[in-house]
Amino acid sequence: MGEAALIDGKGFAAALRARIGTLAGDFAQATGRRPGLAVVLVGDDPASQVYVGAKGRACEEAGIASFEHRLPAETSEAELLTLVERLNRDPEVDGILVQMPLPGGLDEQAVIAAISPDKDVDGFHVINAGRLSVGQTGFVPCTPLGCLMLLKDRLGDLSGLDAVVIGRSNIVGKPMAQLLTDANATVTVAHSRTRNLADVVRRADIVVAAVGRPEMVRADWIKPGATVIDVGINRLPPAEGKEKGRLVGDVAFAEASAVAGAITPVPGGVGPMTIAVLLRNTLVAAHSHAGLEPPEGL
Ligand code: NDP
Repeated sequence: MGEAALIDGKGFAAALRARIGTLAGDFAQATGRRPGLAVVLVGDDPASQVYVGAKGRACEEAGIASFEHRLPAETSEAELLTLVERLNRDPEVDGILVQMPLPGGLDEQAVIAAISPDKDVDGFHVINAGRLSVGQTGFVPCTPLGCLMLLKDRLGDLSGLDAVVIGRSNIVGKPMAQLLTDANATVTVAHSRTRNLADVVRRADIVVAAVGRPEMVRADWIKPGATVIDVGINRLPPAEGKEKGRLVGDVAFAEASAVAGAITPVPGGVGPMTIAVLLRNTLVAAHSHAGLEPPEGL
């Protein structure tokens, strides 16, 4: 058995962002304004602050206006909903993202429901989940759409391939399964109640792991030559003398690489795709708000 090809999500995402930058420039020429993304952060969760900072920088680099709203942890739900309403009406804002998780006491579902579905670039609103489910055009959650892009880039046509998605969350597992079904793969969704998970995974030509358990998927779960997409981001406890532990995925990368045909690393695989697709969705939203055809090839 050889060594799996590395699926370079970081490189793919960089190329996608460069293309979005060009198209955002064309959009600004045509309309006299840049596409705009509003990012709302409530409270001071350190991981969320890092994500929000990264999203703002990625926007500016791609020629997308970034409007950051940082609110204190004590913000009431009514205040947050008022801000969302204002952003819904703001013609400079094409996409609205409220960074999750919200501090306790704030109802995440109510906040998502308040975002206009046509500015819901995260694709979390039930209207967009419904659109995906019945095959209508809408916004698809960024992480699974990024995974699909990597899979198509690697494998081309996915018709007839056996895919196993481990995880059934609304933001990753379920939309991933839907996208793979739409791409004509034969899809199994596994979760914490799945029996004989290793045997189920071993049947798959495509494995997407979105669990949140460090290195759970072992080499002997993987069919030789399979394509493995690792969505998991898990921080291990720090080694002695170190401040921070290592980041690992849901797949035991080193051993799985000896069996898989291709695999995403963590970090540098799926993670960078999530932000690139957020920019893509914002650009698509901007075109739709301006009455323009969506840009091609994104
Ligand atoms: P959730 O916690 O919402 O969902 C986890 C899923 O895994 C659930 O469906 C759960 O099953 C299933 N699961 C838990 N334990 C097992 C087990 N032992 N065997 C099989 N299935 C199991 O997580 P998310 O979907 O939000 O995220 C998954 C991972 O992806 C996390 O590590 C997260 O950090 C990462 N992530 C990465 C992103 C990126 O940009 N790269 C973006 C989003 C998430 P059940 O439903 O039965 O409880």
